[in-house]
Amino acid sequence: MELQFFGAAGFVTGSCHMLRFGKYKILVDCGMFQGKESKRSYDPFKFNAKEIDAVLLTHAHLDHCGLLPKLVKDGFKGPIYATSATCDLAKVVMEDSGHIHEFENKYDNRRLKREGKPLRKPLYTSKDATKTFRQLKPIPYNQTVRPLPGLCAVYRDAGHILGSAAIEVFVEGKKIVFSGDIGQWNAPIIDDPKLIREADYILCESTYGDRVHENKSQKTKILAQHIRRIYKEGGKLLIPSFAIERTQELIYHLNELVEEGKIPHIPVFVDSPMASKATQVFMKHTENYDEEARNMLAHGDEPFKFHNLTYVGSSNESKALNSFPGPCVIIASSGMCTGGRIKHHLKHHLPNPQTTVLFIGYQAYGTPGRRIRDGAKRIRLYGESVPIRGTIVSIGGFSGHADQPQLLKWLNGFVKRPKNVFIVHGEPKGALGLKKAYGMGHVARLYETVKLN
Ligand code: ZN
Repeated sequence: MELQFFGAAGFVTGSCHMLRFGKYKILVDCGMFQGKESKRSYDPFKFNAKEIDAVLLTHAHLDHCGLLPKLVKDGFKGPIYATSATCDLAKVVMEDSGHIHEFENKYDNRRLKREGKPLRKPLYTSKDATKTFRQLKPIPYNQTVRPLPGLCAVYRDAGHILGSAAIEVFVEGKKIVFSGDIGQWNAPIIDDPKLIREADYILCESTYGDRVHENKSQKTKILAQHIRRIYKEGGKLLIPSFAIERTQELIYHLNELVEEGKIPHIPVFVDSPMASKATQVFMKHTENYDEEARNMLAHGDEPFKFHNLTYVGSSNESKALNSFPGPCVIIASSGMCTGGRIKHHLKHHLPNPQTTVLFIGYQAYGTPGRRIRDGAKRIRLYGESVPIRGTIVSIGGFSGHADQPQLLKWLNGFVKRPKNVFIVHGEPKGALGLKKAYGMGHVARLYETVKLN
């Protein structure tokens, strides 16, 4: 049996791992490459998509499911197993991604045409994305499924986003656990990551393998401080946010802060059609909520609605926000400022010293978000160099990812040390930090093949 890493090895995006056994080949995740690695998404797959027998999908983030439409376009006909909530969220994510690629392709082709260069095709279209939907096989947590003869899998809650799973794979008398992305304990709305007791081999993410997050009371306190400050100064607070989970989590906290009287009545705009659609999926899959969120619902309190909160619809309404007078909070995706409506808000507001940009999620190397967070004085947006005069802040505690102590908690949940831990989904510092802290492991290299005996 062999395992090969086709993405998220040495960096965080493009999760894709192949397990080969007998005559079969399965993939765990087939994600988009982003940031500095984004060009890799356009490279042909380093394997034949037609030869893949099944895909096990850990969760609906773009860097885990984003190349599934390309895989299907290239001839993959097999099933894609994922939890029910992941299937619903992945539909939203993949279709949105298809729209973005069509849009950006049109924009690029206009330029290429002007320059007399050959035109390009989009990576995939929204129609390609919807073709993928037919292959999604929704399954519940904690039940054994048999995607192929000789292989079974159990999905355990990874506490990262709604529907996210760590996957136990049983094959040839061995058990391999794919962590997917591990979330934080005590995150709002969703349940905690479940500990798994046994494994021969583990693939473990290491996004924050060298970091410790701020705790929950600190993070909401800091959030409230920034809101009170910009309210007083009359500025705007821009929060680039992942449309899924982070945005809902943020709304949940803002709802709390408003109800507790800790922030003034300031207008809050959620300006992301995808976030609005994802919020609908959250409202549907209450079976995956934690006790606190379920109690809230039982008492008639809706976590995703409060006074002064507006879900912005059309792009005209979004543009109209540019002339919104007075202080307000604008939450928009994408989380790393690589696309979406946040880009036009940044372009409009970054030159204003009264603007604050608050980062609450991971910023991959090479993304505009990372450059802004790292203190750039100017940033290129829509082909223009925009000066950055506002205040730039970040809060780590909102991350959907476990930090080093929480990753160790998950790894130490295994009663016996596994034969090996393959450390993936981390930049070198994160991966090495986790290896050192756990005291063993192998930092996976891109395209490397390892034997599992
Ligand atoms: Zn994720």
